[in-house]
Amino acid sequence: MIRGDAAAETRYARALALARSSRLDSDAELGPLFDAPPQNIDPEILTRLRQMYETGGWVLVESTIADLPSDLRWLFESDAVTLEQLATIHRTLGVTSNADLAAAVGERTLQDLPGIGVEVEAAISAALPSLRARVPRIPLGRAFGLAEPFLERLRALPGVVWAHAAGSLRRGQDLVGDIEIVAAADAPRDVIEEALRVVEAPRCLHRSARRLYLLDERVQIGIRIPEPANAGATLLYLTGSVRHFDALRAHAAATGWLLTPGGLYTSDGALRPAASEDDIYRTIGLPPIPPEIRNGDDEIAAALRGELPTLVSPDAILGDLHMHSTWSDGRDSIEAMVLECRTLGYQYLAITDHSPHSAASRNLTVEGVPRQAEEIRQLRERYPDITILHGCEVDILPDGRVDFPDKVLEGFDLVLASLHEGLGHSPDQLLKRYVAAMKHPLVSMITHPTNRLLPHRPGYELDYDRLFEMAVETRTLVEVDGAPAHLDMDGALARRAIAAGATLAISSDSHRATMLRRQMQLGVLTARRGWVEARHVVNTRPIEDVRAILRAKRDTVR
Ligand SMILES: [Zn+2]
Ligand SMILES: [Zn+2]
Repeated sequence: MIRGDAAAETRYARALALARSSRLDSDAELGPLFDAPPQNIDPEILTRLRQMYETGGWVLVESTIADLPSDLRWLFESDAVTLEQLATIHRTLGVTSNADLAAAVGERTLQDLPGIGVEVEAAISAALPSLRARVPRIPLGRAFGLAEPFLERLRALPGVVWAHAAGSLRRGQDLVGDIEIVAAADAPRDVIEEALRVVEAPRCLHRSARRLYLLDERVQIGIRIPEPANAGATLLYLTGSVRHFDALRAHAAATGWLLTPGGLYTSDGALRPAASEDDIYRTIGLPPIPPEIRNGDDEIAAALRGELPTLVSPDAILGDLHMHSTWSDGRDSIEAMVLECRTLGYQYLAITDHSPHSAASRNLTVEGVPRQAEEIRQLRERYPDITILHGCEVDILPDGRVDFPDKVLEGFDLVLASLHEGLGHSPDQLLKRYVAAMKHPLVSMITHPTNRLLPHRPGYELDYDRLFEMAVETRTLVEVDGAPAHLDMDGALARRAIAAGATLAISSDSHRATMLRRQMQLGVLTARRGWVEARHVVNTRPIEDVRAILRAKRDTVR
């Protein structure tokens, strides 16, 4: 049993506070903790902490105590390395994240460190994929929200040439691990100071001349500040994906270049500095490849054939066809939504509240429809500069009918149909419900087709190719829904949808005015992952064309 006293407890608290105040040289201050430990600390944990402290310093102590999403902690727990070896890697090379570790493995610099050697390097290399999988993932929307204030502040800083998110966030992956930001700047100190001012009482994990790692809401945020002249190399490497970078490296080698995490080298070992990623792509004979499609499957082959898509951009979006108001579970009035859509420069929007049997907290009723129509009529008069479509989001009922009588549906400008619950139905039954809805002449669009709920509920496992085929046949639009919990369809599915010839809508499915922009942005990002171009998307077209497309369905199917 370990005994301690109040003074020791204070010392313990002080030591942790010091550690959190971000100075790497505070190791010495932690020592007294172990001479007279506080009573309430588990002896086993204490032994482990002491071992860590003696070999790894406070970075490890901290990350273990606080149960952090720190990559180093996972490496330690993977048994690939001992604490001593980990401490050597951290202290000699400044390795703090999986990306650092992968770079060090790639450059074979680990094996030369004292006490490491080829075998340990191989063990770390083998552990890397599972380490990546073990870093807790956060939804893209949340990662966006955490990264944005840093990006805004850093971009406004004099001397910062550019600042971008890197990694899975930049690629628009639906779940993101740690957040990495790259800021090209000559004065790294200013950048670090500014970054520390972004969040209140930041907890710093690591700080060196051109790197800062801190914790914000338990998410690790890394900031790299490469010199502008070669910053493109850092951004390219940290953006990944690993498979894309590997494929790029192989392509570079075939054209006589050596591509490393540190930059592009000639065969004689001379660095060819790259201020931007585009510099690197062009030097090795490729057009720049957008981050969202850097998956390492067929994008380099497509680039070589000159067949890269011109991906849809947020600027191409002319309106938003899916959003909710206080008539169902939205938080804001129709007018508030209209005003924000005008601010966003949209030509049109559609108000699409939930139908009576939806599980939403509040629904549009049959009696409510004409009153809502009247409110919209008045708003059209008040805001003639934007087209307000009156739509609804109807649930597809268990037997495939939709949740408003045809007489009611006829009064809407467009009708979105969705499944919000599976009712334990088999994929075949679910598909039948979708198909029945699509065959309805008044149904314009299938929303969030997989009905997944990130990160908790996976989507339906349907025969989506059959669904897309029917969408084309019945002229029904299919949606990429930008709500952070949906991002549905995801990129891979969206790519299959356009390959089948389906027309997509990208929507915000926003329930509040302040989220209209962000959720549309997430929708566009997700569609870009699916190689979607503006020509595939209904709401990149002017309102007359949108109306014609909606009419075409009603007329054809009838
Ligand atoms: Zn919905
Ligand atoms: Zn909705």
